[in-house]
Amino acid sequence: MSSFDVIVVGAGPAGLTLAALLHQAGIAVALVEPQPLRHLPATHDLRTVALTPASLALLARLPLTWSAWRHVDYRQVRVEDADASTPLLFDAESMGVACLGRLIENAVLQCALQDCVDTLALPQYEQAVGATGVAAGQRWLELADGQRLQAELVVACDGAQSPLRRQLGIELWQHDYAQSALVACVHHSGDAQVQAWQRFERGYPLALLPLSPLAGVASSNLVWSLPRPRAEALLALSEAAFIDHLAPRLPPLYGRLLAVSARALYPLQARHADTYCADRAVLVGDAAHVIHPLAGQGLNLGLADVDVLVQELLRLRERGLSLAEPLGLRRYERRRRPQNQRMQQAMPWIQGVFAQDGPLGALLKGEGLAMLARHAGLRHWLGRQALGT
Ligand SMILES: Cc1cc2nc3c(=O)[nH]c(=O)nc-3n(C[C@H](O)[C@H](O)[C@H](O)COP(=O)(O)OP(=O)(O)OC[C@H]3O[C@@H](n4cnc5c(N)ncnc54)[C@H](O)[C@@H]3O)c2cc1C
Repeated sequence: MSSFDVIVVGAGPAGLTLAALLHQAGIAVALVEPQPLRHLPATHDLRTVALTPASLALLARLPLTWSAWRHVDYRQVRVEDADASTPLLFDAESMGVACLGRLIENAVLQCALQDCVDTLALPQYEQAVGATGVAAGQRWLELADGQRLQAELVVACDGAQSPLRRQLGIELWQHDYAQSALVACVHHSGDAQVQAWQRFERGYPLALLPLSPLAGVASSNLVWSLPRPRAEALLALSEAAFIDHLAPRLPPLYGRLLAVSARALYPLQARHADTYCADRAVLVGDAAHVIHPLAGQGLNLGLADVDVLVQELLRLRERGLSLAEPLGLRRYERRRRPQNQRMQQAMPWIQGVFAQDGPLGALLKGEGLAMLARHAGLRHWLGRQALGT
């Protein structure tokens, strides 16, 4: 049986970042993932993440050559409501930062981080985890091919469904939004490279996020959260009918809609594990918490978990304690749970404000956005919350 200090289960962006940082800190770490992503898709991935400056600062600690991986640094975010005339504009220059964040396709980020982990040459197992248990002060994992590994600590980074969380017997709170996010890649004649745009219509956000152009065509990633039956109806439309439906909602900046890729739906749920810690095991990223994508914070929260967990593990190591010392794992949870919870609770609140109907609702939204547009200090504070700085 192979032994390690830490085994990271799941090579999504959170698991890859964690494994690379622990390896760099001199911890003997192994990574287990049945489907490592090593080949960049030729077309745009339908899912994109907006990384905040705080996440970028964490990733800057890795040997990741950004210029090799397609991405867009955006400098403006424009938020508007279908019933209100004043849009809200967050602008990097006025906030004194170089950019508000970096948009990168999920598959591209995963390939970039996988490349990093391959370069660092840490042990990897291309298997799913089957069973797990604790014996002789170690947590063991049995892989799908029957191989056994053990470590002082196992970290579950195996995503929202987290089979490992279930095996650890950790319960979770769940809320079904009864919404799906319809995602697609939209090609347009106007160049909208610097701006991320979001429009609320009865509380449902429609976002267009700039993508790095392929074959010289300006493109954006569409994320449209809608009640499930409506999202399903839009998924079933022909491309031409879908364009007819979408085009009138977009600002002139995008010009003419030239084409829309295949579309996909993601059912939206919120989840939060009752605890992040078990005997010689800990949860990170979507395995611990899942939020509505409207503020683009899910992975940013996961990367903040990674940052804090690495700090706590290094603190245990410095003090000569076991990496599975419950006091250290609980400290990680105490430092991360409140922020994850606050962000999760803010999502329905934001949607609720934008869902207000009727003249009073329109006035509230209109006045609210106009007040934020006038009040630079308040706007900057809000922007800073979103940047994680
Ligand atoms: C429409 C949409 C838009 C979003 N936009 C943003 C955004 O702009 N910004 C943002 O920060 N977040 C965003 N998110 C959230 C973000 O995509 C997730 O938070 C993030 O991908 C989670 O990363 P992770 O590494 O925790 O898990 P995942 O990416 O889910 O990775 C889990 C990994 O575990 C592996 N695995 C599963 N089971 C096993 C097993 N038994 N054994 C071994 N490995 C296993 C899987 O193969 C996978 O590779 C969005 C989400 C959606 C749905």
